[in-house]
Amino acid sequence: MPDSWQRRIDRATTLARGDAPSKALLTQYAAILAAQRTCYDALVADGQRLTGSLDRDLPDVRMCAARAFSTVRGFLPTEISSDAPDNDAAIDQLLSDGWRATSAPFFARVVLQPYAEALARLGRRPAERGLESTPGRAECPFCGGPPQVSVLRRDSGSDGGGRELVCALCSTSWALRRILCVHCGEEDEHRLKYFHTPAFDHVRVDSCDTCLHYLKAVDLTRLGIAVPVVDEVASGALDIWAHEHGLTKVEVNLVGL
Ligand SMILES: [Zn+2]
Ligand SMILES: [Zn+2]
Repeated sequence: MPDSWQRRIDRATTLARGDAPSKALLTQYAAILAAQRTCYDALVADGQRLTGSLDRDLPDVRMCAARAFSTVRGFLPTEISSDAPDNDAAIDQLLSDGWRATSAPFFARVVLQPYAEALARLGRRPAERGLESTPGRAECPFCGGPPQVSVLRRDSGSDGGGRELVCALCSTSWALRRILCVHCGEEDEHRLKYFHTPAFDHVRVDSCDTCLHYLKAVDLTRLGIAVPVVDEVASGALDIWAHEHGLTKVEVNLVGL
C-alpha cells in the first residue's frame, strides 16, 4: 500500500499524463511533491530532534529547505525560481515569517508543509505560530491553519451530512458538518450554494453568499481513486470560474490557485 505522499505523487503523475489543460502544471506539481516527500522523510527520520518550535528546529528544516529549493529550481520557470532564497539567513527569514502567517508564500510552503506534516505524524504540536483564532472560521485542530479542501465520503456522518476538511499546511483531517460555511460560520442553507459541472464530476465548489468565500469539495463517492489535495489542484478551471463569479478562495493551494 503506497503511503500518503506516494499516493499524491502517483495521482499527480497519472493526471499529468492525461490531456487535461493543466498537464504542465501537474507535471511540476508531481515533482514538487517528490521534493516535499524527501524533506518529510528526512525530518521524520530525525524525528527525535524535532520539537515543534521552528526556531529550535531550524537547523534540520533549513537543511531540507536548501535541498528542496535546489531541486525545484531545476524545473520551475525562472520567473518563479528566482524567488527562492539562496542563503541561510534568507531561508530562515522566509520560513520564520511563513510559519507565523495564515497563508505562507510558495517557497515557504514547499518546506513548511512537510515540516508540519512530520510534526503531525510525530505528535509534536507546532509552537509559536501565534495565529489569531477567528470566530466562525474552521481551523485545523493540530496547527490552527485553514482547510485546503473538503472530502465527501460514503460514511461521512450517518445521515450523509458530514464531511472532512483537510488542512492546507499539515494535512490533518477533521470532521465538520456540511451545512456550515468554513470561513464565516454561516448556517443558513439558503445562503450556502454549490456549483458542479460534468467536466469535473467529482469536484464541486461550495460557496457562501454571506462572506463570498469558497472551498472545493472532492466527492470520493463519485471517484474513489481521487486524491483530494491533488484533484483540488487539477481542477483549477473551477477556481477560475469561482474568481470570475466574485468568490475568494478560503486558502489558495500550493500552486497559487
Ligand atoms: Zn494543520
Ligand atoms: Zn461564509
